[in-house]
Amino acid sequence: MRYLITGGAGFIGSHLSERLLARGDRVVLLDNLSTGSMDNIRHLKTSGQMEYHLDNIENLQLLAELVDDADVIVHLAAAVGVKLIVESPVRTIETNVNGTQRILEAACKKRKLVLTASTSEVYGKNTNVPFHEDADLVLGPTTKGRWSYAASKALDEFLALSYWKEKRLPVIVVRLFNTVGPRQTGRYGMVLPNFVKQALDNEPIRVYGNGKQSRCFCDVRDTVEGLIRLMDTERSVGEVVNVGNTEEITMEALARLVKARTHSASPIEFVPYDQAYEPGFEDMMRRVPSVDKLQALTGFRPQTSLNEIIDRVTAFFRQKEEASAPRAATSTAV
Ligand code: UDP
Repeated sequence: MRYLITGGAGFIGSHLSERLLARGDRVVLLDNLSTGSMDNIRHLKTSGQMEYHLDNIENLQLLAELVDDADVIVHLAAAVGVKLIVESPVRTIETNVNGTQRILEAACKKRKLVLTASTSEVYGKNTNVPFHEDADLVLGPTTKGRWSYAASKALDEFLALSYWKEKRLPVIVVRLFNTVGPRQTGRYGMVLPNFVKQALDNEPIRVYGNGKQSRCFCDVRDTVEGLIRLMDTERSVGEVVNVGNTEEITMEALARLVKARTHSASPIEFVPYDQAYEPGFEDMMRRVPSVDKLQALTGFRPQTSLNEIIDRVTAFFRQKEEASAPRAATSTAV
């Protein structure tokens, strides 16, 4: 099978590509490197089955050609990370809405299956955990920038589902919960890479708010497994499916766990939200997926333990540090 992956040089896209290549599929990556990186995909070049285009989805001619050449389209390209969203709301909304619209339009002309990535952010302030796919979306006011991300992704979902209902374009919508693992950078504000990096550098581990808010962290290998299994079953078409892990932890407990597993001397610091993000920032207190639907459709539920995830992320940062450390000077006696 040939997969076109938008955002293919990103964190999740690169892991998905790796898995697909390993099972003998061909992948074509479209990425403008806005948040993705060549470092994520360089090692995939040797497969000979990977092709990449460093371009925008706005290049409609290229997009049409790539869609024509693909069997399945995985649309992961999006503005990601709460920090980026708070700082660049126009870019977030335009990237998310226009990008998805262009993908669906191009795919519809050729009737290609589209898996499009949405987010657990769409559940917003709903407190009724675990979140089931048919739950209400509870968003804050439009004056609070954070909600623009959830609203833009919710619009993407409506659009994708409408293409299915009205035009019979086969689509699958996945709501990704906090996804973590090697290659994720802390640059866009994500908590786990930040905590691990801070712990390894023996710098303060910075917990935002009072640290009582909780999340569930899914290993990217499990996320990718879920996506592939969903694409492999026709029963997923027209469905919205949560993909995440159900092991819940508060950010304060996460900070302590990271500190313990990395044997770090870092102090744990609490940073008010208005300093971490912007005045009036609203966080979600709990975010837990129900993965019953994923399991019913695919027989799979993510189960990698948080301890194992933290160790994998730690190993990644240690390796990265070693690779970038200046080599010991060598001298040659003449
Ligand atoms: N967070 C934190 N320290 C950080 C980054 C994030 O305490 O350096 C908190 C953040 O306020 C949120 C949680 O960790 O409550 C998860 O944040 P992330 O941006 O990773 O994902 P979100 O679930 O908000 O999309």
